[in-house]
Amino acid sequence: MPVTVRSEILESLIIGGGIAGLTAAMYLGRWRRHPVVIGGQLGGQLINITNIENYPGFTSVAGYQLISNLRSQAESSGALIYEDMAVAVDLSLRDSHDRLIAQVWTLPEHEALPILHLPSDQYRQRATAIKNSTPPTYKAHTLLLATGAKRNKLNVSGEEQFIGRGISWCATCDAMFFRNKTVAVVGSGNSAAEEVLILSRLANKVFWLVRNDQIKADAILKKRISNKDNVETIFNTTVTEVVGSQKVEGLKITTTSPNSAPTPAFLPIDGVFIAIGLQAASLLVADQLALRPDGHINAHNCTGTTSVSGVFAAGDVEQEWQQLVVAAGRGARAAGSAEEYLSKLESP
Ligand SMILES: Cc1cc2nc3c(=O)[nH]c(=O)nc-3n(C[C@H](O)[C@H](O)[C@H](O)COP(=O)(O)OP(=O)(O)OC[C@H]3O[C@@H](n4cnc5c(N)ncnc54)[C@H](O)[C@@H]3O)c2cc1C
Repeated sequence: MPVTVRSEILESLIIGGGIAGLTAAMYLGRWRRHPVVIGGQLGGQLINITNIENYPGFTSVAGYQLISNLRSQAESSGALIYEDMAVAVDLSLRDSHDRLIAQVWTLPEHEALPILHLPSDQYRQRATAIKNSTPPTYKAHTLLLATGAKRNKLNVSGEEQFIGRGISWCATCDAMFFRNKTVAVVGSGNSAAEEVLILSRLANKVFWLVRNDQIKADAILKKRISNKDNVETIFNTTVTEVVGSQKVEGLKITTTSPNSAPTPAFLPIDGVFIAIGLQAASLLVADQLALRPDGHINAHNCTGTTSVSGVFAAGDVEQEWQQLVVAAGRGARAAGSAEEYLSKLESP
């Protein structure tokens, strides 16, 4: 469906439909700032979590349940939530009173993702072309960035070619395509362990490829996986190529051991799930806002304000302690800062 261009200038626009963005929307809605959320994949990382045991007030809650509650809460407070994605942002426009007019261009997810996955120099060119050729979808006096973190890539041959054709970063989203098939999960942290657990319920066989001789995931996840007969862990292994014709057919891997030369091998599989860490999803504003060297938006630690007045940031896109309660809290705080900014505009 084509996106609808909104002609009015919104009071508050939020990019990101994870816990930080939806918490911010809930607060701004309650303050009657009529927030619009460009949500992307609603729930963000939350949808990948089968069981959360450290969110205050819940001894155990599924990610989809928490996000579904939060979405209802934000919508009942007046927030409008769309699942399109922002592909370009312009923060340079100000009105005659020096108020920010943030401009944001959006596309449906299936058109946006290939653009947002481009290498940064190619992304810049594409974003500039979009800005020069179409009017912005949204304009707003405050912009709150809660775009979270995105999964790292393997950066090996074949990876780009097979995105969506056997390569995935989200078992919750894609596991059903691999029912009774053979898959691999790359990575050794909690994210990888969660992917292994989800896939072990559907796939015939799950190879868990771990780069060194240790698994970083929490003990409780390791214990759950150790009870699964269809999971085989291969240590000291790196993926060197994704192989296939129309879709993924296998992985070239190299396994090392202390006393022998690295051993290359071919692992026939139908799909591979990549869980080798995250990086702040700050590409949209990388040229327009101050970032820290690691790519996080350099937001004020208490207020969520950024180097551009009227622009705020919250959650994993601006801080390293990647926890739900932190992202929610920072979403609330950044919303409070946006509210203060809007109030000052009304009574300078
Ligand atoms: C497997 C796994 C298990 C975890 N387990 C726990 C746990 O048990 N307890 C805990 O406290 N934390 C856990 N975490 C961490 C926690 O999930 C994150 O810290 C938290 O979800 C971050 O929220 P966020 O809103 O900042 O970002 P995200 O959840 O990353 O959400 C970002 C949102 O922005 C959207 N977006 C991105 N780019 C665009 C764009 N261009 N346009 C529109 N939308 C965009 C995305 O689609 C998404 O909706 C876990 C994380 C993972 C991956």
